[in-house]
Amino acid sequence: MYIPKLAIIIPCYNEEECIPETTYRLLDVIKNLEKENIITEDSFIFYVSDGSTDRTWELVRKYNTDTNGKVKGIQFSRNFGNQRAILAGLLEASKIGADCYISIDADLQQDELKIKEFIEKYNNGAQIVCGIRKDRKTDGIFKKYSALAFYKLMNLLGADIRVNHSDYRLVSNEVVKTLEKFREKNLFLRGMFNKIGYKKDYVYFDVKQRKAGKSKFGTMSLFALAVSGITSFSIVPLRLVTFTGIIMSLASFAVGLSALIDKLIGHSVVPGWATIVVVLGFVGGIQILCIGIIGEYLGQLFEEVKSRPRYIIEEELD
Ligand code: UDP
Ligand code: MG
Repeated sequence: MYIPKLAIIIPCYNEEECIPETTYRLLDVIKNLEKENIITEDSFIFYVSDGSTDRTWELVRKYNTDTNGKVKGIQFSRNFGNQRAILAGLLEASKIGADCYISIDADLQQDELKIKEFIEKYNNGAQIVCGIRKDRKTDGIFKKYSALAFYKLMNLLGADIRVNHSDYRLVSNEVVKTLEKFREKNLFLRGMFNKIGYKKDYVYFDVKQRKAGKSKFGTMSLFALAVSGITSFSIVPLRLVTFTGIIMSLASFAVGLSALIDKLIGHSVVPGWATIVVVLGFVGGIQILCIGIIGEYLGQLFEEVKSRPRYIIEEELD
């Protein structure tokens, strides 16, 4: 029977409070799966410390020694963000080599006992198994509804992502090899794994409260993730700008025409500066919005064109 080698990828940014328990629980999961002959004995845990400034990396180092290399990892030279940390985890762990990789958050909000189900689906032929959260009970009202609105918008724009998709995900080695060829810097992995194709399956899991520490995602970083998700996946907003422009010019042409007709048939046109101010303000607002949208894409081009590395590894443990 075919037994896959598993690597668990964990992005972490200042998670010193979570690392001990997370390591302990994931080692336990691995040990049990190994015993049941579901994964090979050389499966491993791979931490990506995203420029952590607390004791995170020190702890990873310690577990690396304690476990004789079962816990491995890399430390970034600075904070690059969670998406790049996950990507780096996949690419760097694949240099060590595994058959499949599962990314999971360091706070273990995602049910780690579902890992077995991910592997079952992989064994049944899925190359990508996505974790879908069953609900958003642990999120505040704002995060919950803004996330839902985001998924609706993304799907309207044609990205075709399942609602409540998470970065708790299994991918096969073949998928990682394909992912390597995607050179973009502006990463939105949920969308990317969708674009990549391959046979997919889904695992539904409950979200738990964060074990310790605070969420590393503020409103601004969620907004940034949403904007980069949209601008790296869809040019529909740009097209909307063009459409708005066309419609506005047609409308103003019609207004001008009707004013002309009014004049010709002798109606006296009431001088209404309020209307003018409102229209001017409205048009001005739309123009600024359109420039903003174009700016977003321009900013992305700027980032991509610089072709800087997506992440910088300062230290590596294997
Ligand atoms: N994370 C990261 N880099 C960052 C921010 C977050 O690697 O710049 C990691 C973090 O340590 C955690 C995961 O990404 O393992 C998800 O972050 P968090 O739990 O703070 O997000 P939330 O669950 O609140 O959305
Ligand atoms: Mg979390």
